[in-house]
Amino acid sequence: MLAEIDVAIIGAGVIGLATAREISQGKKEVFVFEKNRTFGLETSSRNSEVIHAGIYYPEDSFKAKLCVEGKNLLYKLCDKYNIAYKKSGKIIVAADENEINWLKELYEQGGKNGVKDLTLLSQTELKKLEPNIEARAGLLSPSSGIFDSHSLLKFLYSQAREKGAEFVFNTEVIGVGKAGTKYEIQIKDRDGISAFVTHVVVNCAGLNSDQIAQLTGIDIVKSGYKLHYCKGEYFSLDSKYKNLISRLIYPAPEQAGHGIHWRQALDGRVLLGPSARYVEEIDYTVDKTHKQAFYDSVKKFLPLVELEDLEPESAGIRPKLQGPGENFRDFVITHEEEAGFPGLINLIGIESPGLTASLAIAKYVSGIMS
Ligand SMILES: Cc1cc2nc3c(=O)[nH]c(=O)nc-3n(C[C@H](O)[C@H](O)[C@H](O)COP(=O)(O)OP(=O)(O)OC[C@H]3O[C@@H](n4cnc5c(N)ncnc54)[C@H](O)[C@@H]3O)c2cc1C
Repeated sequence: MLAEIDVAIIGAGVIGLATAREISQGKKEVFVFEKNRTFGLETSSRNSEVIHAGIYYPEDSFKAKLCVEGKNLLYKLCDKYNIAYKKSGKIIVAADENEINWLKELYEQGGKNGVKDLTLLSQTELKKLEPNIEARAGLLSPSSGIFDSHSLLKFLYSQAREKGAEFVFNTEVIGVGKAGTKYEIQIKDRDGISAFVTHVVVNCAGLNSDQIAQLTGIDIVKSGYKLHYCKGEYFSLDSKYKNLISRLIYPAPEQAGHGIHWRQALDGRVLLGPSARYVEEIDYTVDKTHKQAFYDSVKKFLPLVELEDLEPESAGIRPKLQGPGENFRDFVITHEEEAGFPGLINLIGIESPGLTASLAIAKYVSGIMS
């Protein structure tokens, strides 16, 4: 007979970790399976570490609701457990009349989403706050900030373990099949292939979450679960640019991202990015030839930047449900009971603002599990 557990979480990124911490209280036997040697080595450590306010997303979408709730939970948790953060605020800048109109729309959208502290800034007001920024107008979001996401990952991991969750690293889930009212999971580790049975499966497999859903027998094309990879590169700026700007500065968003933004990390590094480009493969190298495009984009709002001061930095890959040219897609966070898979919870397309929303996502998952 195969060994039996209560809950199998697939993936130890921020979503798997937060979920393990949230549901491990009580008598549940929770196991987290991670193919890498430790937690948080993929998208959860390849991002901007921005705590988003929740402005951009359609009202009542998961992205809007869980971002706003998650932001508040995250600031509280950082305060309580001394995780470093800076509520620096953020300004979205407009370069022309079209973008000014778009800022007004964003202001309205933010308000509908519960982000009530936004202020539209005239050119003069913007100059007073950020003298080095060139733009026609701005939208100030005081509740946006940056934080130490690595400390959050470590904290969630140790709390989940304290609450009884077991972590199984270097172990890839290669099969998920229905076994009566339960699921048989096949795993591959250094010793080969083995199997066990679980009552609940929580699919937090990030860039592979659509493939895990497919393994269960769900048609990912029909269900709209097929992921597209969208790469975001970062360039760093010379340290002479340190402390030139106090807030996060975002331009008008691109179709697939929030635009190449300016950020000074908690350790003082000045970073530009991420860009947004659909790719077929997972490859984290930064293409040096993209330097000019970064420069052109940033030069518009920061004229004093020089091309030779940019250096390739790092990259991350967004697990996007929205393909090139397609409309907004929300996170998929669903108990697949109605599709005939009771006990299977899929989290697919957890791109930005997934880090900000992680604690709220975990609470939501806990709610739909019971
Ligand atoms: C460029 C970029 C910038 C971003 N910036 C921000 C930001 O500033 N603010 C914000 O809120 N969000 C941001 N995000 C989004 C945020 O990083 C993600 O939403 C979040 O990290 C997703 O976490 P996750 O746990 O779902 O995925 P991951 O961190 O990718 O974790 C999934 C885990 O599942 C494991 N796994 C996959 N398949 C298997 C398998 N078969 N068996 C076992 N394990 C498996 C993987 O190894 C991985 O560790 C950004 C994302 C990108 C790409």
